[in-house]
Amino acid sequence: MANVDDCIFCKIVRGEVPSARVFEDERSVAFMDINPANPGHVLVVPKDHAADLYAMPDELLAATVAVVKRVATAVRDAVAPDGVNIIQANGPGAAQSVAHFHWHVLPRINGDDLKLNWSLKRGDKDAIAAAADRIRRHL
Ligand code: AMP
Ligand code: ZN
Repeated sequence: MANVDDCIFCKIVRGEVPSARVFEDERSVAFMDINPANPGHVLVVPKDHAADLYAMPDELLAATVAVVKRVATAVRDAVAPDGVNIIQANGPGAAQSVAHFHWHVLPRINGDDLKLNWSLKRGDKDAIAAAADRIRRHL
């Protein structure tokens, strides 16, 4: 599927909706998130529409990862954050709000206390092994 009429990110890719575009190549576009969680928050999207990770062809996914690396390096150098998280959400339970695959390049500031952080609590060894078993059976 190349493009979707009522998809906001397809509209940004086509230039029908304005965005602060920072980079593009043949297959990807990078633009500023309109609701930045921290200054310098950038989104990287494929030009071709795919709803989520599961719908992304492997080659297109790899192409976007290369752009993510390039943009994250630029964000690190331009914004000088304390760190950068690369985040990608699939489905409402993961708080995906736009159904066009995207990577968040998210600069982090010490103490910003963004909600995605979780504290490290040692897991139950047997429960971890059982989850690994279940996942392995699907790979
Ligand atoms: P997610 O919640 O992971 O699906 O991320 C979607 C992101 O898209 C959110 O961080 C929004 O702020 C951002 N967003 C939505 N509409 C626009 C837009 N028109 N321009 C830039 N970013 C947008
Ligand atoms: Zn789209």
